[in-house]
Amino acid sequence: MDSIDKLVEIFRRFPTVGSRTAGRFVYYLMKQPKQRTDELINAILELKNKIKLCQLCFDPFEGEGQICKICSNTSRNKNLLCIVEKETDLSSLESTKKYTGLYFILGGTVATMRKEDISQLRIEELKKRVKEGNFTEIIVALNPTPEGRTTSVLVEQSIREVWLSIKPAGPEQSRRITHLAKGIPVGGELEYIDEETLESALEGRK
Ligand SMILES: [Zn+2]
Repeated sequence: MDSIDKLVEIFRRFPTVGSRTAGRFVYYLMKQPKQRTDELINAILELKNKIKLCQLCFDPFEGEGQICKICSNTSRNKNLLCIVEKETDLSSLESTKKYTGLYFILGGTVATMRKEDISQLRIEELKKRVKEGNFTEIIVALNPTPEGRTTSVLVEQSIREVWLSIKPAGPEQSRRITHLAKGIPVGGELEYIDEETLESALEGRK
């Protein structure tokens, strides 16, 4: 495979990029001075060397320690957890500035309950997080797609399983699982929804 085809193939693997766009990227890069392409190469290397996954929420971050800024922020509500499919969903919710709890990135959704599918998700990590955290409310904020719904069932089962095995912090303290309110179009994805709709879906959760 020559170097043009090889690079086209690499760009084609990017989300939302088809062969034509991939081709345009490659021709664009060919026209750039070497300094520009070096800049790109170094930025990619830096990304891989400096970015780590938060040990609590699994959001990628750059900085000291093993915990991201959100998880280590003491003014956030430590009793509230929001489970999302991917990083961009976390960013969407964060941009509403209405959510003050913590997050957990599941790492995907599944179409079936098959073991090999489920193993692609961070279910075991989630159970550990729920067990060690002291959450009184967990919002399951997966996309309203068929996969999102199947995955929500699995996630809820896992949370209940853990909660059954541990006592609540106080005798009168209730624990609940909630969902974003309707308003997010069926089949829609959190990352493409405007802030206002997302904000009201968050406020109207039940
Ligand atoms: Zn984190």
